[in-house]
Amino acid sequence: MKRDPVAFLKEDMIELRKNNLEWIIRYLEDGSKPHSTVDGKDVLMLNTNNYLGLATHPKIIQAAIDATKKYGAGAGAVPVIAGSFDLTREFQEKFAKFKEVEASLLCQTGFAVNSGLIPMLVGKPDIVVSDELNHGSIIDGVRLSGAKRIIYKHNDVDDLEKQLKEAEKEGARRICIITDGVFSMDGDMAPLPGIAKVAEDFGAMIFVDDCHGEGVLGEGRGIVAHFNLQGKVHVEGGSMSKGFGVFGGTVAGSKDLIEFCANKSRTYLLSTAHPPGVVAANIASIEVVESEPQHVQRVWDNTNYFKKEVQSMGYNTGNSETPIIPLIIGDPGKAQELARVLFEEENIYGTPIVFPMVARELSRIRVQMNALLTKEDLDMALSAIEKVGKKLKII
Ligand SMILES: *Cc1c(COP(=O)(O)O)cnc(C)c1O
Repeated sequence: MKRDPVAFLKEDMIELRKNNLEWIIRYLEDGSKPHSTVDGKDVLMLNTNNYLGLATHPKIIQAAIDATKKYGAGAGAVPVIAGSFDLTREFQEKFAKFKEVEASLLCQTGFAVNSGLIPMLVGKPDIVVSDELNHGSIIDGVRLSGAKRIIYKHNDVDDLEKQLKEAEKEGARRICIITDGVFSMDGDMAPLPGIAKVAEDFGAMIFVDDCHGEGVLGEGRGIVAHFNLQGKVHVEGGSMSKGFGVFGGTVAGSKDLIEFCANKSRTYLLSTAHPPGVVAANIASIEVVESEPQHVQRVWDNTNYFKKEVQSMGYNTGNSETPIIPLIIGDPGKAQELARVLFEEENIYGTPIVFPMVARELSRIRVQMNALLTKEDLDMALSAIEKVGKKLKII
């Protein structure tokens, strides 16, 4: 019998469905904002990274329109060939100033920063000391680098120090500590002051991926500013696609770092630059965060209120310290059932997060706060989450 070379496609999906691990993709018919239309239903969205609500901010939309009219729809080339605009330079200068660093680079995505830059910062003769819960794009970047990877226990500075001693014994050329700033599934923060201290003792480079901290912590400047550690963190990777509400990856740090990245990162060198409208919207987004501090204030007010209420209902929110508030359920089937009932019966869109995003037994709904949610929205969501949680015997 001739074998079917693609039979595994269907077989793998059957296996995923059997284990309640299939991703159901829903389609938005309106903007990414708390009141949106999804698969034909008017719902309250509690699951976007658009923390400040800037994806639909009028000034940012207008900036995208104006730049698109002037410069056109696409960039036409990778950044180093002909894809960089005066807008790109303006963005990079403004962003560096905002982050209080010497220079910055607008890259394709946060994922591309990790997969393109990490393999240039470290290689075979080097050791990466990595938090056990780091984002998948960091893990891929480290794999591509060929560097030896040593894992330290999540957010545990004592264990980090122990692993750094191990790394030192091995006589690596370079040691690089890599951590998420804010952990995307749990909403807890890296203990950056402790990390900076041990890094200094061991002469290790620090790479912080602050995709979920930017826009939210340190008045929008991110976790490094939150802890007043400017100058102590060698590489800050980030994203314009989350708190800033637009699109793109960023690298922030010294002039040396930015020149190195622009000349070496393979994703930067080999992938097309952003459309000019995106670059202009990114500029406008930083201007809005600087001139309208109410958005950051509101997302924190909403976070504090919502978290207190779900905790008092008996939900396990883990170690959340930010607008990422997981409702940890455990069983993946139950997490998916909670999300399904909330969507179908209560018009609340919260996404179940299951393996491989989190360990199987830590399946959850990850709720994310948004500056545009009103008190009425939050109370509506809370009463539905309480009702359905009781019905499904989760709380
Ligand atoms: C979202 C995320 C990324 C990817 O960023 P994109 O700009 O969406 O590609 C990388 N790292 C972390 C920690 C993230 O949360």
